[in-house]
Amino acid sequence: MVKFLLQITAELENLTDLQPQDGCDDPNFSYLFKLKCERCGEVSQRETCVSLNETVPLPVGKGTANLIQKCKFCERDGMIMMHPGRGKPLTQETSEARQFAPLMMFECRGYEPVDYKLVDILL
Ligand SMILES: [Zn+2]
Repeated sequence: MVKFLLQITAELENLTDLQPQDGCDDPNFSYLFKLKCERCGEVSQRETCVSLNETVPLPVGKGTANLIQKCKFCERDGMIMMHPGRGKPLTQETSEARQFAPLMMFECRGYEPVDYKLVDILL
């Protein structure tokens, strides 16, 4: 399993603390990205959407994932679990230093997230 930390940066003009409306752990904030299958290397055609408030039970054992999806080509199951509590708002200072602010940690099994699109960010 691999963990990916999504980081953002932006040029901020006259604003600071860029983050989702209810903070970095906003349960309704949707993340959209494509998934690359670790087994066959196929990249999903459409973006997959995950958010903290959408969970599915794991097929085996206890616990939940935020996404379970089968690869359309090799039919391998992959899943994504989100780990809140790692995000920080993007401050003007960070932006000016051209650094990134962490937003969300994703734990991926069977997939690698690619092509992230930041959507629905409200100021
Ligand atoms: Zn595959």
